Amino acid sequence: MADEVQNPTNAAHIVTPVETAAPLKPVKETKAQKSERLKLEKNPWETWEEVRQFAREGREAVMPDWANFYFKWWGIYTQGDGVGAVGGVGGEGKVTDYFMMRVGIPNGILTSDQTRVIADIARDHGRDLADITTRQNIQFHWLTIESLPLVVDALSAVGLTPKGACGDVVRNVTGCPLAGLHKHELIDAAPLAQRVGAHLTAHPDFVNLPRKFKITITGCPEWCSYPEINDIALTGAERTVDGKREVGYSVRVAGGLSKDPHLAIRLNAFIKPEEAEEVCYKITEIFRDQQGTLRESRTHARMKFMFIKDGWTAETFLAELERKLGYKLDPAPDEIVPDDLFRDHTGVLPQQQDGLSSVGITVLRGRLNASQLRTLADLADEFGNGDLRCTIQQNIIIVNVPNEKVQALIARINALDLHVDATNFWRGTVACTGTEFCKLAISETKGFARWLVDEMEDRVPNFDQQLRINVTGCPNNCGQAWIADIGLEGKKIKHEGQMVDAFYFCLGGALGKHAGFARAVGYRVPATEVPVAMERLLKTYLKDRSPEENLRQ
Ligand code: SF4
Repeated sequence: MADEVQNPTNAAHIVTPVETAAPLKPVKETKAQKSERLKLEKNPWETWEEVRQFAREGREAVMPDWANFYFKWWGIYTQGDGVGAVGGVGGEGKVTDYFMMRVGIPNGILTSDQTRVIADIARDHGRDLADITTRQNIQFHWLTIESLPLVVDALSAVGLTPKGACGDVVRNVTGCPLAGLHKHELIDAAPLAQRVGAHLTAHPDFVNLPRKFKITITGCPEWCSYPEINDIALTGAERTVDGKREVGYSVRVAGGLSKDPHLAIRLNAFIKPEEAEEVCYKITEIFRDQQGTLRESRTHARMKFMFIKDGWTAETFLAELERKLGYKLDPAPDEIVPDDLFRDHTGVLPQQQDGLSSVGITVLRGRLNASQLRTLADLADEFGNGDLRCTIQQNIIIVNVPNEKVQALIARINALDLHVDATNFWRGTVACTGTEFCKLAISETKGFARWLVDEMEDRVPNFDQQLRINVTGCPNNCGQAWIADIGLEGKKIKHEGQMVDAFYFCLGGALGKHAGFARAVGYRVPATEVPVAMERLLKTYLKDRSPEENLRQ
């Protein structure tokens, strides 16, 4: 079905060979035109053999269209030079011969065997690094062309794949990492999230979407998977019919950050569990089949622009969805929108299963090494049932731990330089990839975030509130600065005659009942001066806050 999608930018539009006295110069393809052309020319999921060939022949053999475009469909990007920074003067994000690879973990659920394979890949091919991302993926760095088939084969052997983790496709389907375990969940949505992930991510019908497409499915009352910023969000909902309680889902569409951030819009529909998979498929079809804006501009190619630019409303979208389904959906019941809770599920939490707890480990900026990962897998076997869960906030959880073993497990985790009881700064800081590895980045982020947390713990040791500090290396906002209490967006600034990393402050973002994007306050400083500015801000806040106040009020 993908090849039925009309290409609005075929070759006849690109070159206009009109006969005139002075021959016209060929019109250069726009970025969107080139992307649309490449997507029609090749299905990268069907041509992995070409990558095996590159691996045999070496880096020089890699065709630019693969390196710069098709690899993304396999979760692979070319990467920057790996220059990190402590104190904020980062690398330049220069492209190298190495690759990074993102591996989708549907609903964030991993077995200990899968985790050990990830650890081995990080050790053998990835210079001992594995990053948990803000979509519950794991990301490797420093992969060579020769190693790509080996890594994909090793992942496949344990049921994992990087297929669909990047590119203009359905990305990793996220969900509550405590699905099936959370004491107050409305519904265990993990089986549905995993089914939708298995079905739609890397589905041949959706190899050519206008751009990336993000789905989350959760029954968690805290909405920990951030439904407000996904293209499709199913959240647990309940209603009473003829005196009987029924649980299903609310549906929201068209949320997203980066350019023109947009909160997902709720449709007036109650989705029964048995309808949910088809609803996700049909919504993805609606997105895929859009022409005009979405296929003409890469920066306006997300679903939110159907609402922002093309005049769609919740009502017209629902009508189109019902037309495609061929039946009417029941109207939406009232729902309880969570307060702007700190939604990270870290620490020790009693599960719905008597006598068992989840132990959520805070992984500062999501970065783990191979030995930590392998030990966590072994601990999951020794203390739990072997299951681990990655979270949207770049953390990892060991689940199904008998209560009497929790303290012993925490002692073993502390020995790994990881924390179950972290400070508010450690716990609340998230960072995207940044110039260390990301070609689009303006500022270094991971080393900066680590350094910033150390600084803040020294400068404001008495800070007693949960706090979200999100560091993002460029306006693409993978680090989610728009929903942070304190969002830091990477810039460059001239400082003492030199261009250096800088950060722009955005304050007061929130989700849930008080949802709203952080306000850019027009203040930017060199990275090295961020701790001083943040110290001033937080000390003033501590002095002036009212007794009930939190940073989002
Ligand atoms: Fe790269 Fe920018 Fe995304 Fe950070 S926000 S990972 S720097 S594209």
